[in-house]
Amino acid sequence: MQCPFCKAVDTRVIDSRLFEDGTQVRRRRECPACDARFTTFERAQLQMPYVLKRSGTPEPFDEDKLRRGIEHAIFKRPVPPEKVDHAIENVMRRLRAVNEREVPSMRIGEWVMDELRDLDHVAYVRFASIYRAFSDVNAFREEINRLEQLPTQEARRSQMLLIENDPIAAAAIAAATAKRMAAEHDKPAKTTKRVK
Ligand SMILES: [Zn+2]
Repeated sequence: MQCPFCKAVDTRVIDSRLFEDGTQVRRRRECPACDARFTTFERAQLQMPYVLKRSGTPEPFDEDKLRRGIEHAIFKRPVPPEKVDHAIENVMRRLRAVNEREVPSMRIGEWVMDELRDLDHVAYVRFASIYRAFSDVNAFREEINRLEQLPTQEARRSQMLLIENDPIAAAAIAAATAKRMAAEHDKPAKTTKRVK
């Protein structure tokens, strides 16, 4: 590392030790050219990537927003708060681990779904229905199909009833279906291009 005083190209480390509970390395350096001594600190860079919204605009990651999304999905469901904290931690760990400057919000949504799938089925369907409403309505179909594959008729029936009787999930599914139908309606009719 360059000497900040005389700009000599190299300096040597004369002491190196852990600092701040081992999360940093503190080094004393000495410049062989001018004998100046100085200290450097090294720590892992754990910056959160930006979230790339559907519109393509990046925005800073917002932990509160993530929490609100999850809490909305588990509203009045028997999910203990520590499980919510754990789910948020898991999502944030995956976010840090991607090691990219920007992560599409859709991908974060998929991670939230991974967490909710294990936590509470109704919460999962609520979240999935709201989250996938714009891009992938077929995901519901897949989820319903998946439920229909459940081993016993009893398990199948109880899961389907849970979802059908849940007002939030029902409203979200209805909204998603309406949106998809509107989108299909707005699509210009297919015209065959004449080739000359
Ligand atoms: Zn120097």
